[in-house]
Amino acid sequence: MARIVLKFGGTSVGDPDRIRNAARKVKAEVERGNQVAVVVSAMSGATNQLVKWVNDIAPIHDPAEYDMVVATGEQVTIGLMALALQQMGVKSRSWGSWQIPIRTDDAHAKARILAIDTGPLGAAMSGGEVPIVPGFQGVSPGGRVTTLGRGGSDTSAVALAAALGADRCDIYTDVDGVYTTDPRIVERARKIDRVTYEEMLEMASLGSKVLQTRSVELAMNHRVRVQVLSSFDAALGSDLPGTLVVDEDEIMAQGIEKSVVSGIAYSKDDAKVTVTRVADQPGVAAAIFGPLADANINVDMIVQNVSLDGSSTDITFTVPRTDLARAIQCLEKSKADLRFDAVKSDTNVAKVSVIGVGMRSHAGVALAMFRTLADKGINIQVISTSEIKISVLVAAEYTELAVRALHSAYGLDAA
Ligand code: ADP
Ligand code: ASP
Ligand code: MG
Repeated sequence: MARIVLKFGGTSVGDPDRIRNAARKVKAEVERGNQVAVVVSAMSGATNQLVKWVNDIAPIHDPAEYDMVVATGEQVTIGLMALALQQMGVKSRSWGSWQIPIRTDDAHAKARILAIDTGPLGAAMSGGEVPIVPGFQGVSPGGRVTTLGRGGSDTSAVALAAALGADRCDIYTDVDGVYTTDPRIVERARKIDRVTYEEMLEMASLGSKVLQTRSVELAMNHRVRVQVLSSFDAALGSDLPGTLVVDEDEIMAQGIEKSVVSGIAYSKDDAKVTVTRVADQPGVAAAIFGPLADANINVDMIVQNVSLDGSSTDITFTVPRTDLARAIQCLEKSKADLRFDAVKSDTNVAKVSVIGVGMRSHAGVALAMFRTLADKGINIQVISTSEIKISVLVAAEYTELAVRALHSAYGLDAA
């Protein structure tokens, strides 16, 4: 007998038929003799609608009230899922996050899970009941509703699996696994059978929204076996060949030949900022990035160009698009101390990244990327690298072209 957490995303619970379909998959796992807990998202589109209403009433808002509103999407689906299972003769009940409870910190709208009390849930599971848990939320130390950031139900599911010591966490979504790139933009994307935690972490944080970044981090730290699979497949249960997110050792041990690049990700969530004609002297970078760090703004890619006369420099970097206004405000405030010419910004940019653990032992991966983009006439604005990824910033209109060209260049296209 195994303990399994099943998570169903928005499209997988998008209407009553989809919910019944998901419930059948739950029932199949129960009939295999497994103990099952279920995490659900809100119906697809529901959270967007709730966010819209909040912004309509108050564009700048109290994040605690934002959380109170946007957490309601999952309240609907936990109840409906429990009802669908009851209709099929499966013992089930819904649990509000405050009833479990799922404890988080009080960083509203981007809270982190601190602990999940699994006593009552574990007892219910041992008694043959299927608990249905809302994704994306918890309660703060002060007892208020919090949410975990968009896409946070993945994180709820992995956290619950870790807390329950589950044998597996199955993430049911609208694609049948993790692909070499977003299958919505590259038709010839290929499904990956096994991906390492590290690669998945890079892919998620660089824009592949199939799993929330934090969920992969948690899975890696707690060694939760995560499987991504489609709820649209007619077959029932865990025999479906989804994608397993596992340790690199496990892939090595099976002697699977890994390609140097395993995936391509893109993101349009960044903005480019250029501070022009800053004095070229020690301490300048610290003077620019210090205030941004103090304001909790994450700077990602950075490039510095010395001006022709050598006395001043332009510094270009990226920040999350949602923080752009604050970043500019922050820099303008320090203008008196910093002495620069101007702050320029551009939101018409995309970050395209190639990812693969094989890069550690192969030279020339970056060169192949630069050549491929040059052949397509795509200008690279900023570059950043780590051991297992290379990212470039390009004009947003070239995103699809760049992703497709790189996908072919690294031999990832499906036959
Ligand atoms: P859910 O509502 O089930 O959480 P999401 O929309 O959050 O589903 O995530 C699934 C989507 O992620 C897919 O429809 C796909 O377009 C997108 N996606 C982006 N990159 C990838 C990738 N590398 N592999 C698979 N799906 C990806
Ligand atoms: N419903 C939430 C969202 O749309 C959480 C999730 O789907 O993972 O962001
Ligand atoms: Mg999602």
